[in-house]
Amino acid sequence: MTYPDTQLFIDDEWSDAAEGRWIDVHNPATGQVIGRVAHASKQDLDRAAESVRRGFEVWRDYTPAQRAAIMHKATALVRERADEIAGLMTREQGKPLVEAKGEILAAADIIDWFADEGLRVYGRTVPHRANPAVQQLVVKDPVGPVAAFTPWNFPINQVVRKLGACLATGCSMIVKAPEETPASPAALVRAFQDAGLPAGVLALVYGDPAEISEYLIAHPVIRKITFTGSTAVGKQLAGLAGQHMKRVSMELGGHAPVIVCEDADVELAVKTMSKAKFRNAGQVCISPTRFLVHESVRADFAKALADAATAVKVGDGLADGTEMGPLANTRRVEAMERLYADAVERGATALAGGERVGDAGNFWAPTILDEVPSEARVFNEEPFGPVAAIRGFTELDEAVAEANRLSYGLAGYAFTRSLANADVLTRRVEVGMLWINTPAMPSAELPFGGVKDSGYGSEGGHEAMEAYLNTRAVTIAH
Ligand code: NAD
Repeated sequence: MTYPDTQLFIDDEWSDAAEGRWIDVHNPATGQVIGRVAHASKQDLDRAAESVRRGFEVWRDYTPAQRAAIMHKATALVRERADEIAGLMTREQGKPLVEAKGEILAAADIIDWFADEGLRVYGRTVPHRANPAVQQLVVKDPVGPVAAFTPWNFPINQVVRKLGACLATGCSMIVKAPEETPASPAALVRAFQDAGLPAGVLALVYGDPAEISEYLIAHPVIRKITFTGSTAVGKQLAGLAGQHMKRVSMELGGHAPVIVCEDADVELAVKTMSKAKFRNAGQVCISPTRFLVHESVRADFAKALADAATAVKVGDGLADGTEMGPLANTRRVEAMERLYADAVERGATALAGGERVGDAGNFWAPTILDEVPSEARVFNEEPFGPVAAIRGFTELDEAVAEANRLSYGLAGYAFTRSLANADVLTRRVEVGMLWINTPAMPSAELPFGGVKDSGYGSEGGHEAMEAYLNTRAVTIAH
């Protein structure tokens, strides 16, 4: 299979960047350059903005059913092409083929759900206080052209979490997809083009993220910004959007606590959390990261988690049987080295991993650290890699306080057989998504998003549709 160069998609056409610039794309399993992606300049961005302005004028007047028909056609093509797209994704991002294909099929389901949810965008009528003949309408309209910035950890899924609701509500969108993993999102966009999405409804660009965001956020055509990535960048972009009074959704970093209570099913906790921890090599915003384990079960839990980590088959995502691929870029390997060295220096016990694997590619061994002091960097900075850090607790309040100590508030997990504990956790743990006695199950119909520094706005459920809608009041008297 060859890996293609990725062009820009503007006004229903694929083209090189106006200035002819390119960025190299690497395979993280080998470190080799495998292709290139076009680097947009302002000229390209202006063309993209003008095209989504015109595309919006067309798409807003499609009925929800007409929009859904095109979206469903696109998902049929995505499913048909899933093996081929998975091959591209694994080559550019590193995740095992089975995970890549799973992401693509899940993306198709998400788009389908949003397509149908578009049929359920209702306004309402409100009785007038004095005159029954006066009609007071609450109407829902698409916000307009959107600029979306998506990261490299789920090259397709991060796009569809935005694009699904955007298209279903009648908005148009410029996607600034990740330069590190450009070909698989381009394949997604091609499926929409082949399904007959009108020209200008969707544009795809790559380049210098800071340059593009600064330009598009300020651009008068763009009415809404949506970003997934780190909290630091999210704050910067939200600030900029505020200056231009643009609507914003922010899906940012997390540092998910996992509270394992005294009465937990430890086997279930180990089984579900080890799988979740090493999925996508830990580069997941809802990855379990801070393990807070009751002292009565901590040693057993830590040993079992370390055994599970040691058993994970690490390798090239294209190879049969690989369970965890490389990290997506060298920055993540350097971060793992820093976090690991800092934790051990501060007295943590290493139970598994803690080193690179092989001498080519960005491989890092699944790592388990026990008795990690809360000041260790790994307990404060989002690891975004295959590292689990464990601390003990004796009272549930203590675990809840530790869970809430950081400014992050995206995902949380807990294991307990007690309804009373589940009640305390439900009410007290400050996260946007909490899973008790289960791995994460973020289906399209559930809200997806964080609180506190993990951002605002939702990328699931009907709330995700609201993020792309204006609510207006219209009164008609006669
Ligand atoms: P980073 O902060 O440099 O970039 C994160 C993402 O934001 C990337 O996709 C990047 O292209 C984009 N970005 C950076 N600056 C931007 C700007 N000024 N305008 C628009 N987009 C911009 O970090 P990184 O090294 O690529 O990733 C590491 C960190 O990013 C992780 O620690 C994690 O916190 C975060 N991250 C989060 C998610 C998520 O799903 N929430 C996904 C990827 C990365």
